[in-house]
Amino acid sequence: MRFYDLPWEFWHPQILADMARGIRIPLKFDKATLEGDYGHFACMLIDVDLSKPLPDSIIIEVGEDCLFPTLYFENVPDFCSVCSSIGHSAASCHHAARFAGNVTIEPKDKNSGKRQIQN
Ligand SMILES: [Zn+2]
Repeated sequence: MRFYDLPWEFWHPQILADMARGIRIPLKFDKATLEGDYGHFACMLIDVDLSKPLPDSIIIEVGEDCLFPTLYFENVPDFCSVCSSIGHSAASCHHAARFAGNVTIEPKDKNSGKRQIQN
């Protein structure tokens, strides 16, 4: 993940990790970011929840001011919201037909012992 528009005083591992925790779980810093090789962005590896939309920005409160560094996520794999798998999109899901119908399996009724499947 890249942080753009970030003032240099925020390029500290602890501060970057705290900001990344606002998104999810920080895992590893980019070598250039750790060495203070200031480019156009700070970069780190973070764990994200692909089932939820990734944010475009975060809000950082600095006294009475707020900063809105832009976020960019690289190498985000396709995530299928149909079968919750990584590696393909919902549009190309092979399981789409199975999940398309309203399939519910109700627990066995104690008295009848019948199992009901609705399509
Ligand atoms: Zn799928």
